[in-house]
Amino acid sequence: MSRTKINVDKEELINIIANLEKNRVFTNLSSLYEEVCKTGWAEKFNGKLTPSVVGLRVREFNIEPQTKPGKIGGGKGSKRKNKIVNFSKTFNYLKDNVPERYLARVKRASKGSIRAIIDLKCLDCTCYQNNEVKNCECVGCPLFPVRPFQSTSYKVEK
Ligand code: SF4
Repeated sequence: MSRTKINVDKEELINIIANLEKNRVFTNLSSLYEEVCKTGWAEKFNGKLTPSVVGLRVREFNIEPQTKPGKIGGGKGSKRKNKIVNFSKTFNYLKDNVPERYLARVKRASKGSIRAIIDLKCLDCTCYQNNEVKNCECVGCPLFPVRPFQSTSYKVEK
């Protein structure tokens, strides 16, 4: 079923955004678009004007709000980085026990890279034999779909 496009008047949207930004500072575009949907002007769309639609129209009309986009993912990366410094024992152990060619992954893991952590777990699981990781057949392992060294042509039979 095709969706009906919600027709928004460009000038009206520009004015609504300008008025909102005149009276308040928004921390990111999502909160600005949410506020647009709460205005009296938005009522005429009978609840069909959502923040996503506002965002789409803003881009379509090349409107440039004063509000800047927030950080994608809410800065989770830096939160993880702060948390992971408490695990220096783990990473010191790995530094002393992981084959040299994988030390770069240990370094990235110690800085919070989940990708590197997954890679190291699979390598640990196979005594650091990357071919074994590549040819792993443990389809029930939660890391199986994201294990490193996968052949791009590999397909799991249904
Ligand atoms: S995906 Fe395979 S290699 Fe990686 S942890 Fe699981 S069983 Fe081990």
